Amino acid sequence: MAVTVTQECIGCGVCEQVCPFGAIEMQGSKAFITEACTQCGACVGVCPVKAIQREDEAKQVTMDKTEYRDVWVFVEVAEGKPRSVGLELLGEGRKLADFMGQNLAGVLIGNNIAELTNEVFAAGANKVYLVEADELAHYNTDGYTATFTDLINTYKPSVILMGATNDGRDLGPRVACRVGTGLTADCTGLGIDEATGLVAWTRPAFGGNIMATILCPEHRPQMGTVRPSVFKRQVPDYTRSGEIVRVASKVKSQDIRTKLIDVLKVCTASCNLEEAEIIVSGGRGLCKPENFTLVEELANVLGGAVGASRAAVDAGWKPAIHQIGQTGKTVGPKIYFACGISGAIQHMAGMSSSDIIIAINKDPDAPIFNMADYGIVGDVAEVLPVLTEEFRKIKAS
Ligand code: FAD
Ligand code: SF4
Ligand code: SF4
Repeated sequence: MAVTVTQECIGCGVCEQVCPFGAIEMQGSKAFITEACTQCGACVGVCPVKAIQREDEAKQVTMDKTEYRDVWVFVEVAEGKPRSVGLELLGEGRKLADFMGQNLAGVLIGNNIAELTNEVFAAGANKVYLVEADELAHYNTDGYTATFTDLINTYKPSVILMGATNDGRDLGPRVACRVGTGLTADCTGLGIDEATGLVAWTRPAFGGNIMATILCPEHRPQMGTVRPSVFKRQVPDYTRSGEIVRVASKVKSQDIRTKLIDVLKVCTASCNLEEAEIIVSGGRGLCKPENFTLVEELANVLGGAVGASRAAVDAGWKPAIHQIGQTGKTVGPKIYFACGISGAIQHMAGMSSSDIIIAINKDPDAPIFNMADYGIVGDVAEVLPVLTEEFRKIKAS
């Protein structure tokens, strides 16, 4: 696509004012489109003499979309178990597959993982593509990209869902590029566009100020990564079964440019936020870094994980792996304690699907109370030790 200004331009300057990217400069009595243009099209309709044109490049799509069928979910494996996000996506993928009247398949890549097929069927799939090889025992970019690309080229799925995890974010765009399709990253919602029947991928845009819904009309498969904990995991049904398609790996050890030397576990139970049933989070209202021990003590007593607002992370009170929110992790625990957190929209974006939210804040008008199920108005430094002590007593009895 290209946006151009024709000779008819009368230099009125209207387009310069509407361009959200400052991409139009007036040069003498003519408008000039600079390299900052994102081809958003906002200027096209405002020109009083229709001097701005946006040309679509001739579409060179030769893909036969009818060849592509079925919904796939990449089920990541970590320490011999499927990651929670893969099972959450199977539940959501089941709904899409049922609507489209197609199969839901889980994709399992690893080594000695055949027994996990039961978990994948129980979570909603009726088919599993299973690739096992020594070279795939741990996630590696080269081996997994080649394997996934090969699966797509052979079996031609219509839709692929992946977790927006470290591995999913590494794998998804590479695979999409190899097979010549697009990818909507970091989705927070999935649906079906009624007019086209395409998957409607929803994700925050422009700093979270709007939610954008994206379609992939010209290419297949339709691909997206979805944040962990956005969808609730369905209750597994172990009476379910399905077809297992074993696919031989074509990856050779010399194809893999990286070598796994060691795995260092920096994340203990306290930062395993995506899997935690209880999370105790602290914000700027803790007032000083030492007060995070109050949050940690409550989390310890409850067997929960420790979260933090971005303000607390930016202040250096907690490492970024604890951050919850739009630019941190998305969580969905049974209970979420927000301690000294105001409830900014960007924080809420990461924890609003928690079952029960308990807020502690000294300001009774703090926005977090609008979302909280239970609110305690008070100083965190006083309230937290009391709560911890009470829970400790209850547990002991
Ligand atoms: P504050 O907003 O300063 O709130 C502190 C709260 O503590 C106040 O409500 C105050 O009343 C209360 N308080 C003060 N003292 C006490 C006390 N002694 N006892 C009890 N309560 C007390 N934020 C995130 O958290 N996660 C994100 O991922 C994220 N991403 C962002 C992305 C973008 C693009 C932008 C622009 C912002 C993002 N933010 C994010 C920042 C967000 O807008 C807020 O600035 C941030 O969440 C505020 O953190 P806070 O609630 O800890 O601090
Ligand atoms: Fe600006 Fe959009 Fe027009 Fe490009 S298409 S010049 S970005 S308004
Ligand atoms: Fe030229 Fe049209 Fe822009 Fe006016 S709005 S400066 S006529 S291109």
